[in-house]
Parts: sequence; C-alpha cells; structure tokens
Amino acid sequence: MSTVVVTPPKGRPSSSLRPASDENGDKSKKEIGPTTADRKRWDNVSYWAVGWLAFAHLVVLAAPFTFTWTGLIVALVLHWVTGSLGICLGYHRLLTHTGMKTYNWVRYFYATVGTLAGEGAPLDWIADHRKHHACSDQEGDPHTPNDGGIWSHIFWLAFHTHNGDRVAHLKRWAPDLYKERGMRILDYLFLPLHIAASLALLGIGYAIGGWELGLSLLVWGMFVRLVTVLHATWLVNSASHMWGYRNYETTDDSRNNWLVAIVAYGEGWHNNHHAYPRMAKHGHKWWEFDITWQAIRLMRSVGLVWDVVDYRNAAEKKEMQAAREAASS
Ligand SMILES: [Zn+2]
Ligand SMILES: [Zn+2]
Repeated sequence: MSTVVVTPPKGRPSSSLRPASDENGDKSKKEIGPTTADRKRWDNVSYWAVGWLAFAHLVVLAAPFTFTWTGLIVALVLHWVTGSLGICLGYHRLLTHTGMKTYNWVRYFYATVGTLAGEGAPLDWIADHRKHHACSDQEGDPHTPNDGGIWSHIFWLAFHTHNGDRVAHLKRWAPDLYKERGMRILDYLFLPLHIAASLALLGIGYAIGGWELGLSLLVWGMFVRLVTVLHATWLVNSASHMWGYRNYETTDDSRNNWLVAIVAYGEGWHNNHHAYPRMAKHGHKWWEFDITWQAIRLMRSVGLVWDVVDYRNAAEKKEMQAAREAASS
C-alpha cells in the first residue's frame, strides 16, 4: 500500500482541483469536510449501505450451486451494460464530468442503467466523485489509499460521506443535478428498480427453463454481475491510486493501471483522467485501450452525443477541428 502524498509542484495549479471547479462553479477549499477522521464514528455508519453490500455479497455464495452457461452469458452482458455504459459512460463521463452533450432522454437512460449497477443513486455517486477530484489524496477525499488500501476499496462506503446533512452535501457538490427533479426521483427508485430487475430475470429464466434457469439468471445476472461491477469500480479508487505508471504529474497519486483498465472498461487509465477530468477519452497513448470511449465514439457517429471533449486543451481542440475541416473539404 502506498502512503505517498504527492504535493503540487511549486507555481503549478492543482490539476485535480481545477476541473472540478470548472464543473461546479467556485469552490472554496475550506469546505472539504467531513474528513476521514470525522466520518469514522459509530453514529455515522450507513447501515443501509452496509446491509445492501453485505446482502449482495451473501447471495453470491449461491453462485456455484446455480451456475448455467446462459446465466454466465447474461451476467457478462449485463456487466458491460451496467458497468461500462451505466457507470463509466453515464455516471462518470457524462453526468459527473459533463464530457459530452446529449438529449435529456439519453441522460436519463444512462442514469437509470447506472442506478442498476447497485452503486447508489446518481446524486450521491456524483457528489462523492466530484469531491474525490477536488480533494484527491488529501484531507476530505472520501476514498484515498492514504487512509488504507482496504478503506479506499470498500470500507469508506460503510460511513456517510456527508456531515449529517445529506442535502447540503448534494447541493454543495452536485448542485446542477440536485436541481433536476428526475435525478431526485431516481433516489427513490433505487430499490424498486433492483427488485423489478431481479423479478424480470427470475421470471424470464423460469419461463424459458424452469426454476433452475430462473434462479441462475437471478443469482448470476443480478448478484454475481453486481458484485463484480462493484469491485471493478472500487479497484479504480484503490488500485489505480496505488499501482501503475503515470503519464502526467498530477497533485494526487493517481496511476494508469492496465489490469483495472480491462476490468473497469477503460477507467483504469486513471492518471490520465485526473490530469484531464473532463476528457471523455481516458486512453491517451495508442495502447491505452478504452472500450467505453469506443461506445462514446459510436454514439457520436450516430448523433446521440455531440460536443464530446476528446481534447486536452484549447490548442488541441483547434488542431482537431482544423484536421476535420481539411478532411471534409
Ligand atoms: Zn481518483
Ligand atoms: Zn472522475
């Protein structure tokens, strides 16, 4: 476990602070609370989150007894749908960092698919992640390995990330989304959506192959898929802040980790991402394959998204525009 704290080079703006400010307006650095020390209290335990995560992991114990090849294939497909499209594309690159523009129905489609990844409703996820960028590997970061590798992977979720006032936390870190009634409604739909998806998988499996397939689709398509997506996302917070190489000197300890890039659909190029958070393309070198970026490219080619941030800075944007114009003339 790394305990290195990267301090910003003198006279250089903090790249981890700058983009979050761009997205959320002016942020004063004073408001970084609660810190990890503030949060680690028995009366701050999120019993809801602990119960939900424990339940999902316990159901996975039934996986060896309910295995079918169909169940495995359904789990893999839904892993990509909820993990890559829901979390990486929807929650992260679209809603948190606004790395592209799209229709409102497309935003809500991805927000709903992201909700089905079991990582909480969009508002909390996005508020926590923006705070992570604003305080990355410093006081106030909800999940830095400086507070322990296991903490950054999973234990940070056992405690509320707000100061006892969730609404203030959401208004502070996700004011744009908190204003949207639809996003607040998704809060209430978290559990009903999961119950509906579970019943749908059980029902479809039962209709096709009886109880054996019904239970297989439920356990594999819902819970094995959900738990493996959770750990893939959590590896971004833990492993990608400890192990790997760095393309950019950022003020945090973010790393590019190829193993995490594979299991988390391109999100493992995390040092690139911390250097240029709004950039929807996370792989910056030719070998840094980013499957979520391929989905964004496809969506752009059919007109479902536009104004995609695929450049690092204004100069690069200008260059790319000139190249496109030259190619089309
Ligand atoms: Zn990070
Ligand atoms: Zn991010």
